[in-house]
Amino acid sequence: MNSLRPSNEPAADLDEASRVEVPRVFRPQRALPADAVRPTRAEVNLANLRHNLRVAQRAAPGAAIWGVLKADGYGHGSKAVARTLERAGMSGVCVALLEEGIELREAGIQLPILIMGGYYGRAWAELVRHELTPVLHEESQVRLLADELRHAGVAGFKVHLKIDTGMSRLGVLPDAVEQVGELVRSRPEIALEGLMTHLSNADSGDAASVDRQLQLFSRARATLQSLGLEPRALHAANSAALLGYPSARYSMVRPGIALFGVDPCAPTALAAFPERSGELRPVMRVRTEVVALRKLSPGTPVGYGGSFRASRLSVIATIPMGYADGLSRGLSNVGHVLVRGTRAKIVGAVSMDMTMIDVTDAPGVQLGDECVILGHQKGPCGEDAIGAREIADQLRSIPWEVLTSISRRVPRFYREP
Ligand SMILES: *Cc1c(COP(=O)(O)O)cnc(C)c1O
Repeated sequence: MNSLRPSNEPAADLDEASRVEVPRVFRPQRALPADAVRPTRAEVNLANLRHNLRVAQRAAPGAAIWGVLKADGYGHGSKAVARTLERAGMSGVCVALLEEGIELREAGIQLPILIMGGYYGRAWAELVRHELTPVLHEESQVRLLADELRHAGVAGFKVHLKIDTGMSRLGVLPDAVEQVGELVRSRPEIALEGLMTHLSNADSGDAASVDRQLQLFSRARATLQSLGLEPRALHAANSAALLGYPSARYSMVRPGIALFGVDPCAPTALAAFPERSGELRPVMRVRTEVVALRKLSPGTPVGYGGSFRASRLSVIATIPMGYADGLSRGLSNVGHVLVRGTRAKIVGAVSMDMTMIDVTDAPGVQLGDECVILGHQKGPCGEDAIGAREIADQLRSIPWEVLTSISRRVPRFYREP
């Protein structure tokens, strides 16, 4: 895992001119698994990752899968994930930041990489240098990039154009498509490879909203077609649309969370998709070990502020994972952890580096016993699993936030079962 060695050096091989102009682009850092002393770690199951890619391929036959690996691959480590999926036959990668794209290129990823966040600052030259594909969403960007390309003597540089069909976040508004299209057509430096939009309601079962957005998308496509622009990659589908709306699949799809084994639809919304098979497999498992144990008599307070008091003779275990690791403080006195194959409640306030759990009902707990924060565990007391959806519900959040919250301090271990 040498490629995971932390590095905060600026991108190498900048020439003198760009050294002055181009802002330094830093790479996200990550602990090296071999350096880990603490037993707290995230295990990333690469076989399950490949399985989920096959599920996505079967759901969208004929469409190119460009997996979304932003935010360090939803917390799983984008380099290892990209390398695995590249070898497994994925067609492309999407990230949010230019920095994320550069990190993957420098790690040797050769797939096309789409930068979806649409922000390039003054670093347009970095796109060309690293062969990254920008998403353009504003007229001014077409001019800036085309000028940069002309200076660099580059023609036919691939870009994707984003249309805002209802998300009100990023994208050319429908009534400006013609104007932007004309500009794109007038600049031979730019080749329109892709046309995209993003759906705001694909995970809620609101089919009417999806249809409205897709209609506006079709209209934008027809407008460009009338100008002679025919992008070959059309894409709108995130995981929820890929799994739930065949009409949103076009020639390319952009699943993120489904690749990591989490269904994007809340159980309440799943009723809208009765044929959904539920064959995704979770990729991340977060585990640690008991590092301290004590017996408390009734009335003894636990943790900062004493927000929990033992109501009976209790056995309380301490685990070395806290909110700085991504075990949210919102789980204080609410969440659970698996130990010996059964649930133990989090008691007292989650602190920065440690959390206490009530193991009174899991007899026989000893120092060094494994505790699972996220994922499956089998033990002498039974078998159970805690999913990202369960934790998200307890935090009134979403599984995306749960996965991306597992912090850099938790080393990732990659498993090939
Ligand atoms: C994050 C993102 C996706 C992937 O979404 P999932 O719900 O995780 O599949 C796709 N497209 C865009 C534009 C995104 O920002």
